[in-house]
Amino acid sequence: WQTMPDILDLLGEQLEGEQLKLLAGIGRLADENNWGAYLVGGFVRDLLLGVPNLDLDIVVVGSAPKLAEKLSAEFGGNVRVHEKFNTATVHLPSDIKVDFATARKEFYEYPAALPTIEETNLREDLYRRDFTVNALAICLNRDEFGLLIDFFCGYSDLEEQRIRLLHNLSFIEDPTRILRAVRFEQRYQFQLEPQTAHVLSNAVAEEALKNISPDRVWNELKLIFAENDPVKSLRRLAELGIWPQIIPGLEWKNSIQESLNKVIPVITAVADITGVSLERWLVFLTVILRETDETSAVAWLDQLSITKEQRSSLKRCLEEDSAAMLQDLETPGPGELHKLLKDCSPLGMALILLFIKGQVEQNVYQYFRLRTRLPQLLKMDGKVLGKMGIEPGPVYGKVLFALEAAVLEGKVETVQDQQRFVRNWLESKGVL
Ligand code: ATP
Repeated sequence: WQTMPDILDLLGEQLEGEQLKLLAGIGRLADENNWGAYLVGGFVRDLLLGVPNLDLDIVVVGSAPKLAEKLSAEFGGNVRVHEKFNTATVHLPSDIKVDFATARKEFYEYPAALPTIEETNLREDLYRRDFTVNALAICLNRDEFGLLIDFFCGYSDLEEQRIRLLHNLSFIEDPTRILRAVRFEQRYQFQLEPQTAHVLSNAVAEEALKNISPDRVWNELKLIFAENDPVKSLRRLAELGIWPQIIPGLEWKNSIQESLNKVIPVITAVADITGVSLERWLVFLTVILRETDETSAVAWLDQLSITKEQRSSLKRCLEEDSAAMLQDLETPGPGELHKLLKDCSPLGMALILLFIKGQVEQNVYQYFRLRTRLPQLLKMDGKVLGKMGIEPGPVYGKVLFALEAAVLEGKVETVQDQQRFVRNWLESKGVL
């Protein structure tokens, strides 16, 4: 046991008074039953690193569901108990969420199986975790409130900026840890400790990741996509030769890097232009799956537990190739682009912006931005056409579309110009 005198200061700096009261309350309620209650996982790691994190994970040496019920009886909020796992989540009225888990030990009946669980003490609970930096705990019981518990030298690994396994079979028991190692390594710019790096490359050589379901891989990939800078981890997975094991047929070419670097800026630009926030994972995954052949990509997608809509949206993204069509245009004006892209959805817009290169990219950006100003620039609508004596019908849509293209080209600005344009257009079509 290592005493860290400054944990209380760190908690005081990172948490608000109400949150501290809550932690003390959890310790007191556990004391009433002679249970142990400990903060664990990412919260402890990030507290020591000075990184804000409000994911409160509590290990209870006792009953997690009962402690959760007691907390909610005193502090309010809702409790959700998961009997099967002996865990519970409390959503407090202050919007804080606390996850409680009964201390458990895990047995893997065979490599990469889902573990069998048994109740245990804190040390064993921490020993089943992925890396030493994630296996630190802070005691919440009153007599030892704020005591840092560090069975596996996680604190010195944090100081030395190392990702280290707790034991050599760890990646074989749960190959998703390979992806987690890369994610934490890249997030904090840490190094894989040499033995861990060695065990990892052996696990990759043994193709350990092929032993788990695409869904378990997918859950970890989503976490990578949600990182501040996912591209670093995605590139590192390539460096370690991991991609072909998680997405069959995927060969990482350097050219993918350019599109990956564009994903977040493009999503930001699309949100800016359309007000629609696209889901990051959808865009990242499209870029990645385009590197494999369509049959393998579709077969992989079919194994994921995603919604029908998400699946068909991804499949459409893989087929979509408007960027290639636009790439051949030399310097298309906004009018010409309007004819091709009028009905382009925000996702379609993102795919074009991701894959288009060179001068055309600037023109397309300009068009998408200009298009948002159409409602102000367009001085005519169906009502005005009616007043001009034009019979309502499909011709309205056609003439207004032609007018939009002309307006985007900056050719017709005033109401008079626009009316003249409409008349000429209708005359040329023999309507007037
Ligand atoms: P993040 O900051 O990304 O949320 P986290 O450490 O909180 O990181 P979680 O995925 O929320 O990550 O997991 C919480 C804790 O559970 C981890 O800190 C780790 O101790 C443990 N854990 C999660 N996944 C695994 C795993 N596959 N194997 C072993 N332990 C795991």
